[in-house]
Amino acid sequence: MTKPLSVQGNTAQQTKWGHRRTTRVTNVGRVPIGGFNPVVVQSMTDTDTADIAGTTAQVKQLADAGSEIVRVTVNNDGAARAVPEIRKRLDGQGCDVPIVGDFHFIGHRLLREHRDMARTLDKFRINPGNVGRGPRHDENFAAFIDVARDLGKPVRIGVNAGSLDPDMLVAKMDANARRPEPLSGDEVEREALIESAISSAEAAVELGLPENRIIISCKVSRVNQMVETYRELARRTDIPLHLGLTEAGMGQKGVVATTAALSILLSEGIGDTIRSSLTPEPGGDRTKEVRLCQDILQSLGLRSFRPSVTACPGCGRTTSVLFRELARDIQSHLDRKMPEWKSKYPAAATLKVAVMGCVVNGPGESRAADLGISLPGSGEAPRAPVFIDGKRVTFLEGSGIAAEFIQMVEDYVGKRWGTDSAGQ
Ligand code: SF4
Repeated sequence: MTKPLSVQGNTAQQTKWGHRRTTRVTNVGRVPIGGFNPVVVQSMTDTDTADIAGTTAQVKQLADAGSEIVRVTVNNDGAARAVPEIRKRLDGQGCDVPIVGDFHFIGHRLLREHRDMARTLDKFRINPGNVGRGPRHDENFAAFIDVARDLGKPVRIGVNAGSLDPDMLVAKMDANARRPEPLSGDEVEREALIESAISSAEAAVELGLPENRIIISCKVSRVNQMVETYRELARRTDIPLHLGLTEAGMGQKGVVATTAALSILLSEGIGDTIRSSLTPEPGGDRTKEVRLCQDILQSLGLRSFRPSVTACPGCGRTTSVLFRELARDIQSHLDRKMPEWKSKYPAAATLKVAVMGCVVNGPGESRAADLGISLPGSGEAPRAPVFIDGKRVTFLEGSGIAAEFIQMVEDYVGKRWGTDSAGQ
């Protein structure tokens, strides 16, 4: 097959921070991905998609938490039949989040036989390792891409280390064994992942899918391997990239591994859309994966989702837990208020508040924030200086410090951003 050069070759631009970003943009519903658009937060449901009520509720929950695209599995006829009704119910609730269908093994058949489902979805995800082997692979892949092309839908070519095309992997391993200096197993795996993704993208373009309707991902479950894979992928293609550390795991391990992997790549300007694949605790909250993605992007200064609170860890100089309680109360107050502020004062997402434990770093951090309070440490006068826009404006003392400071934050937000909202 003659490979169209436009899929390969990185014509990415440098951002003002010196980061690489793709020049290509793919629209998923109303959400643009790639170019200089903000890095998009995605998530995936874990309900049975055929359960219309349950899936609708979870998509809505994830969207309300800030997921800008939600993926649902479409693994059988029941799931395929449910998709249009899920969309209808979401629209009825004013939820216009784009929905992506995740297909494996029989996606080509489901898309062909359930046209309403295909029309309803905003993007299709195909795993080239899971569409059959040999000639069947090419046939099924082509049937899948034909539907996307005819309906004008974007496609994510989502390769996973756990489901690489076994024929290609074996051929690569054999070829590697014959080399005078064989590559390591990780290097062969990386090459197989990247080749699978890029050759599938090229095949899709050959089949008539426009280049600006493709997104690529190459997911692995080990941090270093993921970072090296995406770095190489970014060198070889200008197609927008979806990042995710697959099977990240549970609890702190999953959070740390996901943060490490995504942060390295995002800080190098690699990645146009992200998802954190956390395993929730039994009965746990699925929206934690959304919050983690937002926190990563906000920590890196790439996007702002909610006001941030700078708080010191406390030490032997603090006399009580007051500052910890205040930091917690301020953070939870701001989290509660942000959904309301989102429409009234969207810029409040950039608000920075400092809650500090004593005079050592308290005044400095408080001055650097929009609003800061430096609580009295041991041996200090029992009053807390408050700083606004770098200037000390008052002292608070007594049992009402928390309520008074929260009121000052409310006043500040209304005063600073209230005028903006009036003009919107
Ligand atoms: S600001 Fe004060 S209380 Fe907080 S960690 Fe530093 S020295 Fe300790």
